[in-house]
Amino acid sequence: MERYRIGIVGCAGRMGRLLLKVAGETGACVIAGGTEAPDSPAQGQDLGAQAGLGELGIKVGADPVALFARSDAVIDFTAPAVSVRHAELAAQAEAVLVLGTTGFDKEQDAAIARAAQHATIVQAANMSLGVNVLMELVERAARALDADYDIEIVEIHHRYKVDAPSGTALALGKAAATGRGVDLDQVAQRARDGVTGPRRRGDIGFATLRGGDIAGEHTVVLAGDGERIELTHRATNREVFARGAVTAALWARGKPPGLYAMRDVLGLG
Ligand code: NAD
Repeated sequence: MERYRIGIVGCAGRMGRLLLKVAGETGACVIAGGTEAPDSPAQGQDLGAQAGLGELGIKVGADPVALFARSDAVIDFTAPAVSVRHAELAAQAEAVLVLGTTGFDKEQDAAIARAAQHATIVQAANMSLGVNVLMELVERAARALDADYDIEIVEIHHRYKVDAPSGTALALGKAAATGRGVDLDQVAQRARDGVTGPRRRGDIGFATLRGGDIAGEHTVVLAGDGERIELTHRATNREVFARGAVTAALWARGKPPGLYAMRDVLGLG
């Protein structure tokens, strides 16, 4: 079978460089090319040099249409508005798109769902295997315990992260809400400040910390009277997300159009 061609948009970003490295080291695929923002200093540089792979003989480009044309799958860890445009291009090309970007608003979510009518899109706020197992555990715990157990989600990330709460924290909140049979939008407490009054029964609370170079830590607390459960995931490096994304791209080969999640990739049901 011919090796699978993977294109990477945002290839000079923190995740983009790791994606180049992991795709370059994965025997089942080859790097088809990479794009960056038109004003990025990486424009015109060799892709391999971006990832410490040695010269690949492919230059960083600015044209995602050309990249889709020569890729079997494109991986996107960029920014919400950019990713929506890429989802539309994936729909036109009827291509595979792995979407790791976080921080989409509702309209952008809807645009991605529309694009997935024609493109095979795997989207996950967190591409690590461990976090996706954590989501399952949280959903089950929330299903088993009623609202006497207050659910709070605490996350900490590096100082450069631009969105809060993290996409993973929100996905964990959604898993808890699903377990409880409620709509997260109705019960989410995304920030607290000043005299907030007592905690409302059934709320799902979020707290955000930022600092240093922390790859990402999430704890889901279910606090009852006299006991509490804490479910924690710690990513010790960011390569785990890149490995998950490349695994998702390979899994999506030949799959019909649709919006898939990592639980599909991992066979978690
Ligand atoms: P980053 O800012 O280092 O990288 C983003 C890159 O996208 C930059 O290099 C930027 O120049 C590039 N870019 C901007 N506009 C572009 C365009 N039009 N075409 C091509 N490239 C363009 O950010 P990062 O830390 O790599 O994170 C990127 C995104 O991935 C964020 O939303 C982050 O939350 C998310 N993320 C997701 C996971 C996951 O597992 N799903 C893990 C880590 C980060």
